[in-house]
Amino acid sequence: MQVKCPTCRREIEWSAAPSRPFCSERCRLIDLGAWLTQRNAIPGEPAPGEPEASPDWPRSTET
Ligand SMILES: [Zn+2]
Repeated sequence: MQVKCPTCRREIEWSAAPSRPFCSERCRLIDLGAWLTQRNAIPGEPAPGEPEASPDWPRSTET
């Protein structure tokens, strides 16, 4: 069965890939590193369930 490596998109043989679904240990670490970097790169990530703009936002000065 042929699958595509999520990191480099290279087609690999599933049964012959020791680091599947990646083509190699290197690609596996790259994907893991990218995932961690993305998480750590967003310090001001809004908490889940918190709306970006509240409907009760004070706008009484506008008429
Ligand atoms: Zn790869």
